[in-house]
Amino acid sequence: MDQNLIIYNTLTREKEKFEPINPPFVGMYVCGPTVYSDVHLGNSRTFISFDIIYRYLLHLGYKVRYVRNITDAGHLEGDRDEGDDKFAKKAKLEQLEPMEVVQKYTLGFHDVMRIFNTLPPSVEPTATGHILEQQEMIKKISKRNYTYVRNGSVYFDVEKYNKKNDYGILTNRKIEDLLEGTRELSGQDEKKGRLDFALWIKAKPETLMKWDSPWGVGFPGWHIECSAMSAKYLGDRFDIHGGGMDLQATHHTNEIAQSQAANKISPVKYWMHTNMLTVNGTRMSKSAGNGFLPHELFTGDHPLLERGYSPMVVRFFMAKSHYRSTLDFSNKALIDAETGFRKLMKAGETLNKLSTSKSSSVNIKKLVNNCYDAMNDDFNTALLIAHLLEVVRIINLVNDGKEKITKVDLEKLKRLYNNFVFDVLGLKEDDSAGSKENELTGELIDFILNLRLEAKKNKDFATSDKIRDELIQKGIKIKDTKEGFEWEID
Ligand SMILES: [Zn+2]
Repeated sequence: MDQNLIIYNTLTREKEKFEPINPPFVGMYVCGPTVYSDVHLGNSRTFISFDIIYRYLLHLGYKVRYVRNITDAGHLEGDRDEGDDKFAKKAKLEQLEPMEVVQKYTLGFHDVMRIFNTLPPSVEPTATGHILEQQEMIKKISKRNYTYVRNGSVYFDVEKYNKKNDYGILTNRKIEDLLEGTRELSGQDEKKGRLDFALWIKAKPETLMKWDSPWGVGFPGWHIECSAMSAKYLGDRFDIHGGGMDLQATHHTNEIAQSQAANKISPVKYWMHTNMLTVNGTRMSKSAGNGFLPHELFTGDHPLLERGYSPMVVRFFMAKSHYRSTLDFSNKALIDAETGFRKLMKAGETLNKLSTSKSSSVNIKKLVNNCYDAMNDDFNTALLIAHLLEVVRIINLVNDGKEKITKVDLEKLKRLYNNFVFDVLGLKEDDSAGSKENELTGELIDFILNLRLEAKKNKDFATSDKIRDELIQKGIKIKDTKEGFEWEID
């Protein structure tokens, strides 16, 4: 087991040595999607980031239980218990049952996750499947007097909780500052304090998804599901809790308060948050009209995109930024990522054809250490990819006869490549590489280069040079070999 892993902990705002509570077991919870619409790219980035984190922990030998929930009830439009139920509203709009909405978008979400080559979590609990657990937790919190009931709804009393605990601990903010940033309660508001949040919400006559409870018919608040389900599958205190940065201030802050109130223990050792997406430097959002969905990115069917990019190119592009940095989408950055991804895949093919020597002129151990050091430093995939591109350069130098490698070192290099490119980064040869157009292009280039070979044999050097120059001009690299030729598109 690697003992050098360092994780940036949002809770302490420091990089800390990773020491699981009960090694070799690791419990990791990531807030999943609210399945009332297509999963957007921001969410996809979060899940891809945690997929890489999951994969690296597995690679290091940890036995990881990865829980990622599906929010299929209880999520109102506003994060502060206001607005319509997201599922009911969508169901009305699409003339579906709420659970039809849930099914439709859960399947869509799983499709996107599969296309991005993410590993499924160990457990994927749903809010509707854990109503009893949520009610039990609300009862526990009530027993410790941190709740009050108003007209059939149960609220968490934040100011009372804050007297003995630090409510703003996750974002390092005092409750006075938080209160200042919240709107005044309206006359009809049932809440006592502005920061209070609902644990159980009384159903209205038109509410479609509702359950019986000790407080009357209603449905759970959004935050309680994650506290109840993480405790059920990972225990009252577990190792890693992740999610998007936008969840920190309200959802995760409330999760800590609920769990601490119910179980008298801080629920999570390491809190991890992924950063936001931007498009050409501006924050990506639906309202700004610059948000695109994964499938729009694949097809290029969006006014801001010049063309489409394969899912593996997008995954590679995302990994090129550290998960705590903003990720900026631009056509240029995507094209650069595509070039880098193709180089990496091509090098994998070259690697299998390398010839070995009696001695090595390259330091493989250093390359391996560099890759581990990058990932051990808070999962720095950006640095890892820079090192992998150095590996690509070395593979090509060995192939060109400019560097030498022994058989033993070649095996190490292959292991390094497989471990980090496929197992940890979760990349794979993309399907577009085998598409009809690409196949045809390959066949045509082979055909033209065979004509050149014939011209050379016939000592028609004018023609053979002309073919070579034209192809080079079109960005095709040609290498003459004993067997004939090799080429690649630059
Ligand atoms: Zn959550």
